[in-house]
Amino acid sequence: MRILVSNDDGVFSPGIAALAKVAAEFGQVRVVAPDVEQSAMGHAITVRRPLHYTRTIIDGLEAYRVDGTPADCVALGTHHWDSVDLVLSGINLGYNIGHNIWHSGTVAAAKQAAFLRIPAMAFSAPHTDGGTDYEKLAPFVRSAIETFLALPDMLLLNVNLPENAKGVRWTRQSVRHYEGYVVAGEDPMGRTHYWFAEEPTEEVEEGSDRWAVENGYVSLTPLRLDLTDETLLARSRAAVPKG
Ligand code: MN
Repeated sequence: MRILVSNDDGVFSPGIAALAKVAAEFGQVRVVAPDVEQSAMGHAITVRRPLHYTRTIIDGLEAYRVDGTPADCVALGTHHWDSVDLVLSGINLGYNIGHNIWHSGTVAAAKQAAFLRIPAMAFSAPHTDGGTDYEKLAPFVRSAIETFLALPDMLLLNVNLPENAKGVRWTRQSVRHYEGYVVAGEDPMGRTHYWFAEEPTEEVEEGSDRWAVENGYVSLTPLRLDLTDETLLARSRAAVPKG
């Protein structure tokens, strides 16, 4: 099995080395990732300048760095390697749950594979000051890959891995809370600048990705590419019959 591994934190992130190491148990691994961090770039692709695909080495594995976005990396990686069977993205330094799935470059790398009809998984874990213990996460990464491979109909799976998980839950995307808000500050020259910031949420929907990680469970969320609101579509068609 050919497994392409990417991320949005950059090719030298410890998370991608950890993911590639587990992936190597399942098949032949090639790492293709951004040369610098591309977090929160979502599904951007580079269309106004050329891209470069440069050989490097990650923990003895074949690797390439790309001067582009996570989606660019998967596009170039699958272009350079015939019949990729599986794309894994991560392990991101920080959860990708709720509305962050929209912003996430980690999920976008997996989504780019899904666009190409290649099964893909995105992996994210909390970013802690002391550093993430990837050895502890490895068994959960391994079992998530096994679960995914046993479900041939599944194309895109978002996996979030809390520290010291006590189990695994199938979840839905949490949508009740958006943590991105803008905070104004001042730079040394007296100019006003702005940061996006996050604040803890108060209410968590049971059965959601956020609920799972906050309760110590690995969260597995199957994602789809079709954004159509089926309920509204049906209602709109009923209300305004085509003329
Ligand atoms: Mn990231």
